[in-house]
Amino acid sequence: MVQSFSRITLPDLAVETESLVKVYRGRGGDKRALDGVSLAIPRGSFFGLLGPNGAGKSTLINILAGLAVKTSGRATIWGRDLGDDPRGAKAAIGVVPQELNLDPFFTPRELLDVQAGMYGVPRAERRTMEILDAVGLADKADSYARTLSGGMRRRLLVAKAMVHAPPVLVLDEPTAGVDIELRRQLWEYVRGLNARGTTILLTTHYLEEAEQLCDRIAIIDRGGLVACDTTVNLLKRIDGKSLTITVDRDLAEVPTALVPFAPELLSPRRLLVRYRPSAVPVGRILEAVASAGLGLADLSTEETDLEDIFLQLTASHQSAR
Ligand code: ADP
Ligand code: MG
Repeated sequence: MVQSFSRITLPDLAVETESLVKVYRGRGGDKRALDGVSLAIPRGSFFGLLGPNGAGKSTLINILAGLAVKTSGRATIWGRDLGDDPRGAKAAIGVVPQELNLDPFFTPRELLDVQAGMYGVPRAERRTMEILDAVGLADKADSYARTLSGGMRRRLLVAKAMVHAPPVLVLDEPTAGVDIELRRQLWEYVRGLNARGTTILLTTHYLEEAEQLCDRIAIIDRGGLVACDTTVNLLKRIDGKSLTITVDRDLAEVPTALVPFAPELLSPRRLLVRYRPSAVPVGRILEAVASAGLGLADLSTEETDLEDIFLQLTASHQSAR
């Protein structure tokens, strides 16, 4: 199934989905995990797919990987339609699944060899040691997978996804449970791949990670796309700040005068208010603090970050849960 990826006629979009729908049929009823998702992932991008638990991220990725079957809609990978050319599409993508499913009695070297065989990579073209080295597993090449730590298994899955040198690499929550040092190492490798042209599609729970790594971000919630933009635009787009107010005495609850600003009581003396400077002058919040008979002990404001945007965009859904 090995295919050469023409560098002459490159597609503009590495991945494209159009009105993608996935319904899981079950005894307890149907679950609409994807409700018409249309996404365009430009070639060469480092694309983040974010969303709360259960949003449909893994479902989308599993469909692209050929591990789940779409209910309706269209998806293409590297210009190859999943429906018309599933083998071509599959050859163009490498997937690091969310679950750490590895055969415990294989060594990394063997696992990569089996994977290369499955993708029809000729022996002479296999780069087993080079890949293991890149993910920091060269010295574990001949150890049983079951003896590897969680972080090593994760990196081994990344290596496995790369054996057929796919132009698109998909990582589903790859750093969950991976310690900081190894995470850094993993990102260095993935960034290098991206710099050399591999398109990366990443889902992560760490918004800071997405903010630092991804040039484009899509946010999905309950199977629907709620945002899709460059990271820069997304951060600019939402007019939001947060204000932390420390008052001079303990509060048992949010004072009535402050309720309209929906603050969060962080501790008995600290309130967090997320607000939109264009709609709510900060002075009005401070007036409310004074009218509640509170003195100010301290104040700090922060610009919005991806976390705030994420919370705002998914807030209505969260509260409905
Ligand atoms: P995420 O990866 O964003 O956490 P998933 O794609 O795993 O979300 O799940 C989306 C929704 O689909 C969830 O409500 C989940 O319970 C449901 N779901 C996922 N896989 C299955 C399945 N195999 N059968 C039935 N429901 C599923
Ligand atoms: Mg998932």
